[in-house]
Amino acid sequence: MFRIIKTRNTLPIIVQKCFVSSVPKPIVNPTIKYTELFINNEFVKSSSGKTFETLNPATGEPIAQVQEGNSTDVNNAVEAAQEAFKLGSPWRTINASQRGVLLNKLADLIDRDSVYLASLEALDNGKPFSVALSDDVPVSSSVLRYYAGWADKNHGKVTPIDGNYFAYTRHEPVGVCGQIIPWNFPLLMLSWKIGPAIAMGNCVVLKPAEQTPLTALHIASLIKEAGFPPGVINIVPGDGPTTGKAIVDHLGIDKVAFTGSTEVGKIIAEGGAKSNLKRVTLELGGKSPNIIFSDSDIDQAVQGAHFGLFYNMGQCCCAGSRTFVHESIYEEFVEKSAKLAEKRCVGNQFDPETKQGPQIDEEQLNKILSLIESGKQQGAELVTGGCRVGNKGYFVKPTVFANVKDDMKIAKEEIFGPVQQLLKFKDIDEVIQRANNTDYGLAAAVFSKNIDTVNKVIQSVRAGTVWINCYNVFGVQAPFGGFKMSGYGREMAEYGLQPYTEVKTVITSIPEKNN
Ligand code: NAP
Ligand code: MG
Repeated sequence: MFRIIKTRNTLPIIVQKCFVSSVPKPIVNPTIKYTELFINNEFVKSSSGKTFETLNPATGEPIAQVQEGNSTDVNNAVEAAQEAFKLGSPWRTINASQRGVLLNKLADLIDRDSVYLASLEALDNGKPFSVALSDDVPVSSSVLRYYAGWADKNHGKVTPIDGNYFAYTRHEPVGVCGQIIPWNFPLLMLSWKIGPAIAMGNCVVLKPAEQTPLTALHIASLIKEAGFPPGVINIVPGDGPTTGKAIVDHLGIDKVAFTGSTEVGKIIAEGGAKSNLKRVTLELGGKSPNIIFSDSDIDQAVQGAHFGLFYNMGQCCCAGSRTFVHESIYEEFVEKSAKLAEKRCVGNQFDPETKQGPQIDEEQLNKILSLIESGKQQGAELVTGGCRVGNKGYFVKPTVFANVKDDMKIAKEEIFGPVQQLLKFKDIDEVIQRANNTDYGLAAAVFSKNIDTVNKVIQSVRAGTVWINCYNVFGVQAPFGGFKMSGYGREMAEYGLQPYTEVKTVITSIPEKNN
């Protein structure tokens, strides 16, 4: 149906889908089929009878009422997962390769429903339908396919232990895994979480974010259709301080994986430790530096910095939200960046022209607007944008600030919105020191044609990913995660399997007569 091409000499250097036939049209009012908790392969009402609204961020109007799980519901989900994980259960006795077959089936079903899922994701989250269809949905199924391949390949080692023994390691599942995901990439974060967990034979209780529960619940129906045994994957929507906390505190949960804010990440690390020393992996916030040297291709760098900040309405943990530009090209860079921001088409997520939809909710809108205000008050130069678009929905005009200083709030705090900070630097040692002067360490980028400059930055910058002459390039084969307060543990790639396995060492005595 489509072929894969690569863009040449442009940024982002990402794989783009080029539809040979016509591009599918969105379902502007997708039927909402699933709004209940998914426990033990059944859709059930919450024990409290409570529901919450999920909104369309383009209008602020409700889409559906969703059942709100509480600690009793989390408990039911954990019991189902524990039953599914019991020794001798269908899940524990299934061939490892069969786990891969099930993940591949789920990926096939996601691809089958891609237009519906992309429409639902666009409606619930506000991201452009075209982006959900070209990025979120197919990348989610490809993540599941990647981990399907690992299901029967993560083997242990035979180790040459001293003495007359045969020693080897087994990579066993951790058990019941709680997974708490954010609203910025609802489908993608779900696939990043369940892919490695399921491939390694764990069971899952997952909580989607309150703002975006709908695609996870459609995936729940596909999990059942794919033929996963009951209780292997349970999905419990609800709010963080209740449902999320119940997962973190539950003594029947062996591991928690979380993506979201650093503030909540700390609460989760603490709760996981206090309850039963759960294994915890955290993928948190960032204030990533993007360093533009004077010998870079300036147009490529302007585009790279623009994409690195404005993609997904600026709602990316790895957004390049501190763009350091060499003083010799600073004025030109500011002018070109502002022009690009002004060209960015803001509008309804289902309009094919739209590049930027609404922010996720009113709280985020207000947070972004107040950070913009602080930028103005602290003396940054507002080059373009700086305000809301319209008075319905949560749209923000693409904003560029110049002459930003390191100690300004907009240079220190995660804005999570379409607001670009351009800072000026003189030399490489100075900029490396300033780039590292943050509590975060998720990602960094450098634009330069000089290999010595590039290598120096790569080795000096403290970040989990470094992009060279590109930004926001991801591949499921490459790990992702943070240094410092951007979290710990890695997701994707082979590294992403480790948090979902326990290593068991087996040592067998070899009788003397066998020698
Ligand atoms: P958040 O509070 O960290 O939410 C992320 C997830 O954690 C959601 O599912 C949330 O549930 C849950 N949660 C919240 N409090 C919890 C608790 N005490 N125990 C267990 N789970 C809990 O993020 P947010 O409030 O949506 O966004 C705030 C800021 O976080 C953003 O401005 C941005 O800076 C950052 N953020 C980062 C990422 C990322 O990809 N690293 C993603 C989203 C947000 P509910 O939301 O359903 O209550
Ligand atoms: Mg919503």
